[in-house]
Formats: sequence, structure tokens, C-alpha cells
Amino acid sequence: MTVQLSSILKREINPGQVAFVRIDCNVPLNEDGSIADAFRLDAVVPTLIFLRDRGVKVVLAGAIGRPKGNRDEALTTQCVADYYSGKVFENCVYVSEVFGDEVQNAINSISNGECVVLENLRFWSEEESNDEQFAKNLAGLADFYVNDAFGQCHREQASIVAITKFLPSFAGVCLEEEVKALENVLKNGQEPVVSIVGGAKVSDKLGVIEALVKRSDFLLIGGAMAYTFLKSQGVVIGDSLCEDDYVTKAAQWMETGKIVLPLDNVVAESIDSIKTQTVRNIEDGYAGFDIGEKTVEKFREVIARANTILWNGPMGVFEKNQFANGTSEIARAVATSNAYSVIGGGDSVAAIRGLKLESQINHVSTGGGATLEYLEKGTLVGVDALRTKDR
Ligand code: AMP
Repeated sequence: MTVQLSSILKREINPGQVAFVRIDCNVPLNEDGSIADAFRLDAVVPTLIFLRDRGVKVVLAGAIGRPKGNRDEALTTQCVADYYSGKVFENCVYVSEVFGDEVQNAINSISNGECVVLENLRFWSEEESNDEQFAKNLAGLADFYVNDAFGQCHREQASIVAITKFLPSFAGVCLEEEVKALENVLKNGQEPVVSIVGGAKVSDKLGVIEALVKRSDFLLIGGAMAYTFLKSQGVVIGDSLCEDDYVTKAAQWMETGKIVLPLDNVVAESIDSIKTQTVRNIEDGYAGFDIGEKTVEKFREVIARANTILWNGPMGVFEKNQFANGTSEIARAVATSNAYSVIGGGDSVAAIRGLKLESQINHVSTGGGATLEYLEKGTLVGVDALRTKDR
């Protein structure tokens, strides 16, 4: 049985208390340093408002990019403070350190219900090495800890794992919703369960496919990874991407009878060609870059019968118009279905948001690697750290 997470919503809070709130602020940036997409920052707003309205002083921490233990002005968290200033907090102060006098003075100077944003934690190598003393120093700033960084919970880092040894620790609203949604799919979802997996490589998603084959009634495979499966069934795949080392594994999964493969493919001479054709068997000199119309029709039929849907990974090279149709059509099919639907991470989330269909999905995950690892293992180190700290 799943151990319940200790939710921040149930904690008794007094005005003036200080919360250390870890968020996933790994947002894409424009060249001028402004935020290109604030999806992850918006996802944690309910937690921030909850704390703000109870007069908590919020110490907000996270990381952007991979500075690998060095200061990198292009990856400062100043943009996070700017984003929340006026939007969530009247006063949101950026500090260029993560503990010490400058930080303490900033916390002392703000009023209850306001916020201090710490510098990018990954400017310090101790963050990624899960260093206990570093975590203790971070913990020393606050009365309690809130983890709302689901997308980082697969990483054993000081502000995700070690810090829970030193403070009463709680799950934020976004993290709790993520875990609930994935548990709904993995354990509590109504059958038939239909999983849709696409993207580049079978080898990247081995554990996920293994888990989903067991959990699902039907597993629809699209994207480049479909060609490894199609090859295992004797379909001619031309120059399409294929991982020959996994053809035997794909054949074994096919024996479960649950896997549904593309019936036709949108092919071209190269990924940059505008000229495309739709075929089943692919000649040499051509490669498949999207699922064809017959496949869309078949996948739609299966999706329409689902009571629970999980989707991860695009059906083709959706970044290019000429290969985007399969992904868009599957996005529409999932959005119009009455099933409980979860879209897990990365490109499929970008596709659904690009089509402005996210409000028709039950849960759109903020995690990429974290979502995949949760589906594979049924938990994450950061989530476990909160469960063992239940109080
Ligand atoms: P992933 O990160 O594994 O979900 O893979 C996403 C990437 O796979 C996207 O950038 C897609 O353009 C790419 N992709 C999907 N289908 C194909 C395909 N048929 N051929 C080449 N790349 C593909």
C-alpha cells in the first residue's frame, strides 16, 4: 500500500514562520535571459499562494541549467524573482547567495507573506553531491521544508533529499498532484488502460515500456521507436531510425498481444524534405518520420475505448509541420476522450500545449525524466525522502 505523503495543506502554520520551498525552476530561457516558457513556475503557484496567504516568509530555491558547481550569470535565478514579483508576492527579493548573512538579512527584511529567491543552487557542487553540511546550512534558514519540485525528485540532491533530515518536511500541492495522477494510472486507474509511447529510442524507455506493457491493456507505439518494433515483425523500414540490439526485445513484447503498431508511415528522403508519401513498407533511401492516416484512425479507435490514458513521447518529428499531423491528431483524440488522461513530460506536453488542449487533459506532468522514472519504479528518491519524514 502507498504511504501517504505529508501534505503542506494539512500543516498547521503560524504567520512569520519561514518555509524553505524547493521548486523546479529549470525553465527555458531566451537569449536576453527572459523566460521563454513559465509552465513549471506557474505549476507551483498554488503552493506559493497557500503559504503567502498564511503569512509565511517563503525562501524559494531551485536550479536552472547545468552550471556544474560554477557561477554562471546567464543561469541566475533573478528571472524567477522577477516573474513572481507582483504576480504572486508583493515583494520578491533575489539574493546572490544560498545562505549566510546576505540571505539572512533579506529574510529578516521582508514582511510576512513575502519571498526571498535564492541563487541557482547548482552554482554550488554540494547541491548535486547531496552534501549533508550544505543541506544543513540551507535548512538553517527555515522552520519547515516544502518540496514542490516533482521534476527534480529523481535526483539525489541536497535540497531534495539530504535537507529532509534537518526539517519537518512536506509535499507541495504540485508534487502531490503529480504523484496522485501517476498512482491513478499505475494502480487505481479504471480499465481499459491505454498507454501511448513515442519518441526517439526504445533504449531510452526500456523500463517504462516494460512497466507499461504489464499495466496496460493496449500499448500504442509511435515515433522513431516504432521502427524497431516494425522490423521485429518483418516490415521493411528503409533508412528509418532503428536500434538493432532491441529488435529481439521488441519481438518479445509483441508476444503479449497488447502492442499496437503503425499501419502506415509518412516517409521522406530526409528529415528536411517537404515532399512526403504515406506507405507501409519503406524503400531504401526513405525514412519514416510520422505515423500515417490509417494509423491515426486505428489509434483513435483504441483511445476511444479507454477509461485511463497515459501518453509519453511524440508520434513523429512534430517539430516539423510536414511530420506533425500524427502527434496533433493523437493529442486531439486524447483531449476529446472521456477517459482519465495523463500526459507525461517533455515533447508530448509541448505538443498538447501548442494546440492549447491542456485544459482537456486530467493531468499534464511537469516532469520529464522524473515522470518516466516514476512510471518505471513507482517512486522517486525525493518522494521517498518525504514519505519517510511523514509526521
Ligand atoms: P523523446 O525525447 O525520446 O520523447 O524523443 C523525442 C524526439 O523524437 C523528438 O525530437 C522527435 O522529433 C523525435 N522523433 C519522433 N519520431 C521520429 C522519427 N520517426 N524519426 C526521427 N525522430 C523522431
